[in-house]
Amino acid sequence: MTREPFATPVLGQATLDELRSHLQGQLIRPGDSTYDATQKVWNGAIDRFPSLIVRCADAADVVHAVQFARSNGLRVAIRGGGHNVAGRAICDGGLVIDLSPMKCIEIDPVARVARAQPGLTLGEFIGAVEAQGLVTPVGTVSGTGIAGLTLGGGMGWLMGKYGLTLDNLLSVEIITAEGQLLHASATEHPDLFWAVRGGGGNFGIVTSFEYRLHRVGALLGGIVIHPASRAREVLRFYREYSAAAPDELTAYAVFATMPDGHPVVILAVGCCAPLEEAEKLVAPLRQFGPPLADLIRPMAYLELISMIDATAPDGWSYYEKPSAVTDLTDGAIEVFADVATVPSSPLSQVLVQHVHGAATRVGVSETAVYGLRETHYETSIIAAWTDGPAEPHVRWARDLAQALEPFSTPAVYVNAIADDGSERVRAVYGPNYHRLAELKRRYDPTNFFRLNQNIVPAQS
Ligand SMILES: Cc1cc2nc3c(=O)[nH]c(=O)nc-3n(C[C@H](O)[C@H](O)[C@H](O)COP(=O)(O)OP(=O)(O)OC[C@H]3O[C@@H](n4cnc5c(N)ncnc54)[C@H](O)[C@@H]3O)c2cc1C
Repeated sequence: MTREPFATPVLGQATLDELRSHLQGQLIRPGDSTYDATQKVWNGAIDRFPSLIVRCADAADVVHAVQFARSNGLRVAIRGGGHNVAGRAICDGGLVIDLSPMKCIEIDPVARVARAQPGLTLGEFIGAVEAQGLVTPVGTVSGTGIAGLTLGGGMGWLMGKYGLTLDNLLSVEIITAEGQLLHASATEHPDLFWAVRGGGGNFGIVTSFEYRLHRVGALLGGIVIHPASRAREVLRFYREYSAAAPDELTAYAVFATMPDGHPVVILAVGCCAPLEEAEKLVAPLRQFGPPLADLIRPMAYLELISMIDATAPDGWSYYEKPSAVTDLTDGAIEVFADVATVPSSPLSQVLVQHVHGAATRVGVSETAVYGLRETHYETSIIAAWTDGPAEPHVRWARDLAQALEPFSTPAVYVNAIADDGSERVRAVYGPNYHRLAELKRRYDPTNFFRLNQNIVPAQS
């Protein structure tokens, strides 16, 4: 992983005491008993050492941290759930604004709205709203933070019916690079609201997300497992099945390895149609093969978004390459069958996610998101290992991404890219990049928020 060059200003005790005196939360420094646990993120391959970590208790702490960093010339990293694969939530030598203690949520079941703080994980958020019979579409692993996921997009089982997570965002409370607290929505600072819906952490620190909620009962979800030796026919079936799927049904294909060492192709599904109809929609998936195992059943949404948690635990080393496969042509299927079925380790996996329905009916210029507005197969190549050098795993992920290039567009999902450089970031935002750069100049002209998939302020 790339190490950011850094120079840390020396801060005197009085300066630090002054900061501490303003905080409701904690100030953590190297040597403190909680430092080692606090500087860890989901990806165990990331090992960075910030000079200061402010564990924020509320929005006022965030304002103090921003102002302190500005007046002392510190670089800042913003941490929500700590799941960004490139470890953007942590930095060497600067100040980490850690939002993970901020976990309050207010739910209005009548208006079907939830206001959530940025420290919540998907599991904590869905656990709270589903207790009221309501949900909003989120991702597929419960430990992921709502903050980073929402600000980049938010793909998951309900995107066909209800769109991306950020398509369900009604407003945000955000602290700008000047340390000013603003409300942004369709009517207040609408340009800022446009930019944060896809622009990640480039425009400020969101201290509250207001989401629209939907009434969804039990879903039909789960997986069927096939041997990897049948990868070609399974993918051809998946191509036809997913292309015909209604909005209520989202299906993924996953290349993984069973605990006994056998490589497999898994078809995973989440269907929010009424159960009787869902059974009919899912029946062809269960009949095809037949599969080695059929683990599909009615379940709560919280259960569905926790289904694959064990395959991506905290602390393993990870390297990810995304690929936006436009169509599962026979050529693309050959690549998957040849390379994805021979992973770099039994922990590595490839997710082929069918982006369709409501997520793709939102216009490219309606939010900052570009690549997720066309029907396609967003592919996450996730190399994982627990010991030994990174090189064979990184090479396998890069080789597979490169082999998929003839079948892909460069407009991949921003939350899945690593240290790929500014050209990649431009490609991710496509026609929206120019407007984003103009707004970056307006809201963050000095590029104070730059440890992210960085949108460089436009030149005046
Ligand atoms: C196991 C796993 C499964 C995943 N599954 C999915 C999935 O199903 N669907 C999907 O869409 N994505 C998925 N992702 C990708 C996920 O969207 C990103 O990793 C996202 O960055 C996670 O958000 P976080 O808050 O945990 O990240 P963090 O690492 O804490 O933050 C990432 C970046 O987001 C920005 N940020 C975070 N919080 C704030 C804030 N409050 N204000 C401003 N900026 C902020 C900062 O720039 C920060 O560096 C998955 C990731 C993992 C590791």
